[in-house]
Amino acid sequence: MKIPFIKVTPPGPKAKSLIDLDHKYISTGGGVKLLPLVPEYGEGATITDVDGNVFIDFLAGAGAAVTGYSHPLLVKAVQEQVSKIQHSMIGYTYSTNAINLARKISDITPGEYRKKVSFGLSGSDSGDMAMKIARYATKKNWIITFIGAYHGQTYGSTSLTQFQGSLKKHLGPLVPNILAVPYPDPYRNPWNIDGYEKPRELTEASINYIEKYIIGHVVPKDDIAMILAEPIQGDAGTIIPPVDFFIELKKLCEKYGILLGVDEVQTGVGRTGKWFGIEHFGVEPDLMMLGKGLASGMGVSAVVYREELQDPPSGSLLFTPAANPVASAAALATIEIVEKEDLLNKSSKVGDYLMKRFKEMQNKYPVIGDVRGKGLMIALDIVKDSKTKLPAPDLTGKICWRAFELGLILPSIGFYSNCIRIVPPLVLSEDLARIAADIIEQAIDDAIRGKVEKGTSTWS
Ligand code: PMP
Repeated sequence: MKIPFIKVTPPGPKAKSLIDLDHKYISTGGGVKLLPLVPEYGEGATITDVDGNVFIDFLAGAGAAVTGYSHPLLVKAVQEQVSKIQHSMIGYTYSTNAINLARKISDITPGEYRKKVSFGLSGSDSGDMAMKIARYATKKNWIITFIGAYHGQTYGSTSLTQFQGSLKKHLGPLVPNILAVPYPDPYRNPWNIDGYEKPRELTEASINYIEKYIIGHVVPKDDIAMILAEPIQGDAGTIIPPVDFFIELKKLCEKYGILLGVDEVQTGVGRTGKWFGIEHFGVEPDLMMLGKGLASGMGVSAVVYREELQDPPSGSLLFTPAANPVASAAALATIEIVEKEDLLNKSSKVGDYLMKRFKEMQNKYPVIGDVRGKGLMIALDIVKDSKTKLPAPDLTGKICWRAFELGLILPSIGFYSNCIRIVPPLVLSEDLARIAADIIEQAIDDAIRGKVEKGTSTWS
């Protein structure tokens, strides 16, 4: 069958009636519903919706379905485990799968030191765990995060998140003693430094800002538990800091006895072409948050930290279904698939191909202000004017909508809701990548020629 295959203009009749029911019964607090898509099944990097439309998937359920859909090894692992025992509670007893998974996570994560792992169910709860671990181990209070960071939506993680102010509206008070500082975004930053031309200058500006304005001035210098950062900011629009940023940040942390935490919920498990995003920057963090792709989206999160950090009180990181045997089997299978199928290398090559195509498109279409990415985590920054870099969220929405009509699931995201987000399953073939890139090119062309009426929803 030809892929993509649009049988009926989406959303089709079945999707429409399900969407009506969703609006009736499901809280709008649970999502922003970027696209009117109701998946029925998936295979590899494609999704078939309830009306029989077959799409190429550049969303992968928010970057989580790293092994794609219906991978035989994952299916087998889950089926076998669920037929043996579907739940055993690691808070009270022991679990073979959880033990094996913790060992495997310790092996694949960077850091030539012994590690401990705590388990949860979502990236968001890993933010809460990270905060508890850092505060308890250091007996310090303050946490520094970065503007543009997305860490999740539990109370703790909402407090760490510095993205889309509306997410905090009328929800306070949040967890106190968290402060946000600018992230060294090479494309748009408060210092107006061109971080692609002058990466060192940008690193210096951002590190100096933390040291000269924050530490000891705004927060007590001996009361900072952790600086927490995404190695590459995901939801802010795939923001890649200068290559020496984390080296300098780590030095700063060491100088003041602060833990360096990295949120690998989105960048982890091969998304950027390496196991973990921080490996692009040559730094060993003290603590890492994992989630999303760890079990191909099936609800396993974790915090991995230096063994020498004192564990928080017994039971303070306890969640009944955490690392349950079925989800842990899915996580072990996910890691095995990434290893066996050489997905780090394969997805990097497909990512390189896409980057090349997008750079070519950038030369043709000035609305593409910036193209940035590593592995299969890529964003196109859509602007009104390439000199002023003024974001164009409406045009972005129209491009994504047209792509959807043409059979590509293409979400928008970003600090200014003006980025096209590309986070497909790592099993995406170069053939499908080529078809998807052609669709994106056509969608951009149609949108700038005013041929697209509608836009997708955005975060704001
Ligand atoms: N951290 C990062 C970097 C994320 O991208 C996300 C999800 N977008 C989260 C944490 C929260 O994960 P979850 O939605 O699974 O709670």
